Amino acid sequence: MTDQFKGIEPMVYESMINIPYSWWAGDTASRFFISLRDEKKIIATRCMTCGKTYLPPRKSCPACFTGDTEWVDVSDEGTLLSFTVARRQFASIPRELKAPVIWGLVKLDGADTALLHYLGDVKPEDVSIGMRVKAVFAEERKGTIRDISHFRPVR
Ligand SMILES: [Zn+2]
Repeated sequence: MTDQFKGIEPMVYESMINIPYSWWAGDTASRFFISLRDEKKIIATRCMTCGKTYLPPRKSCPACFTGDTEWVDVSDEGTLLSFTVARRQFASIPRELKAPVIWGLVKLDGADTALLHYLGDVKPEDVSIGMRVKAVFAEERKGTIRDISHFRPVR
């Protein structure tokens, strides 16, 4: 360090950058998203070797390492396996959602794995593991996971 910087207080500024990007979803995720968008139907892949049904769908079975899979319909209803509540408005939370925001791991009927998504139409204190939930589709669907707006309790 040269003398010209001696005694200068280091300054730190916080800011935010916005980085637009494109992401190729691939044929498996694309088919899944198109089904959500056009048919409001949740589809998964089933391994023809071990029979495990993956949601989100997988191109190949991570247990058998085979690409021998088939598409299957799963229910829009399932069981909440776990959840967490964000009580602050983190940057990763979409602006249209206001804290507290509830994330849940939902295992839909017919699937062997869980889908991470938002829970809605429920207060955090009324959420419990094991509760039954149902997908609520967005009015305007764009071919993303947010075509499912959220999962609500089955009443
Ligand atoms: Zn398998």
